[in-house]
Amino acid sequence: MSDIKKQFEALQAATLRLRNSSAEERAAKIRALTAETLARKEDLFKATHAERGTHDLDVAAELMMLKTEGDYVAKNLTKWAKPHKVKGSMGTFGKKCEIRYQSKGVVLNMAAYNAPTAESFVPAIAAIAAGNAVMIKPSEYAPESAQIIQGIVNKVFPADEVQVVQGGVKVAQELLALPFNHIYYTGGNAVGKIVMKAAADNFASITLEMGGKSPVIIDETADLENAATKLAWGRVMNAGQVCIAPEYVIVHESKYDEFTKLIGEKIDALYNSDGKGLENSAYVPRLINERHHQRVAGLIKDATKKGATISFGGGSDKKSRYIEPTILTNVSEDMDVMNEEVFGPVMAIMPYKNRAEVIDIIAKRPNPLALYIYSKDNDAVEYFLTNTSSGSAVVNNNCVQAGTNPNLPFGGVGASGMGRSGGFEGFKEMSNARSIVHQPLDRFRDFLIQLPPYSDKYKNIIMKAIK
Ligand code: NAD
Repeated sequence: MSDIKKQFEALQAATLRLRNSSAEERAAKIRALTAETLARKEDLFKATHAERGTHDLDVAAELMMLKTEGDYVAKNLTKWAKPHKVKGSMGTFGKKCEIRYQSKGVVLNMAAYNAPTAESFVPAIAAIAAGNAVMIKPSEYAPESAQIIQGIVNKVFPADEVQVVQGGVKVAQELLALPFNHIYYTGGNAVGKIVMKAAADNFASITLEMGGKSPVIIDETADLENAATKLAWGRVMNAGQVCIAPEYVIVHESKYDEFTKLIGEKIDALYNSDGKGLENSAYVPRLINERHHQRVAGLIKDATKKGATISFGGGSDKKSRYIEPTILTNVSEDMDVMNEEVFGPVMAIMPYKNRAEVIDIIAKRPNPLALYIYSKDNDAVEYFLTNTSSGSAVVNNNCVQAGTNPNLPFGGVGASGMGRSGGFEGFKEMSNARSIVHQPLDRFRDFLIQLPPYSDKYKNIIMKAIK
């Protein structure tokens, strides 16, 4: 038997014990996980810096997500884990109805590389809160972080409660063949499909946290300075390796030239304030590996070949996996940059004349993870919100909706994902919402009127109800 299978079976053997653990016991484990992770922050800063050249404060923001979630879940868990009484109905007259959130069993969490600690531990917190055993596979692209993640788990949890397995595609395939009860996956669409198919073999439920092309709409009433500043940050942060990053901007034609000029200026102001060049900025990390560097550089090349103009940036360095923050204008819809997720610091900008055109451009693409609207016109905001679909949306800001507020569940729709994480919704995602009906046995409430042979009284009640 392989080691992975043995590890899985150890977790499986603990499912009943974990299901019957108290909310207080689970909350204590979540607090211990958060505390140990924060205690290792300097190591995580170093690891992430080595992997992608990330600034400590950007990694700290990731840890902040984890702390926000961990504290909130630990605080509310007793309330969530209690049986939830629900109102009765005609069909359950005289009976007592409740929902009990019960663990699913063993949860697999496959994480991506761009926020390795949060992606490993935020879903794990929800799974632990719901009383599951958990297997975490951090991304093989962030091996130094993965090593620390494994060290944290090994220190906090016994081997039959939470396990970390490191490795790449082969390990992922071996894991996906095991009968997990729930699979939580963060990553791209292509692997998302593989995960979904593998889950079908075992009827595992799934959460898919994927990405896509999150659009930005800037209408004629928008505060352009404000929008350009926030979008410069949203696109360049983590060198664009953020699932909810603004990917392309559709700007009203009357503001197109001004916005195009402003966004370049704002990138410079935020990321090159010391004038030493963007490539020397402590705030512009590198792409995770050569393949992703080549892919993003290829998107710029494809766009320029098809007629796009580089209005800012455009440079790249293969050796250091650097992509200069880049703004593309004169973009057309057939360009790869308008159809593939960039996941790098490259933003395409196109003008629009009327609102219907905006809806059309967005509707031609799979449902995005996020959508951003910059406008001071409430009617326009409502029009754009009601005529589009996305996992989340933000008005007059970007990238502030994920991991920031556990009362706002996070997730995608269609090709950008399914299921939700965060807070009570995240807890429910990892639970079986078991409906339980209690029948009191006294003669006023325990009637069997619905059984044949049907009485006229029963017939009258039913016929009246469906009149
Ligand atoms: P990816 O699709 O390359 O890989 C993710 C995981 O899948 C890794 O654990 C990897 O080992 C595994 N994997 C790869 N090939 C496999 C195969 N053939 N069979 C089985 N498993 C396989 O994703 P990535 O490049 O690491 O991450 C980038 C993507 O993640 C982007 O699309 C981004 O939008 C998305 N993302 C989404 C969120 C979110 O919360 N929605 C967060 C971060 C990243």
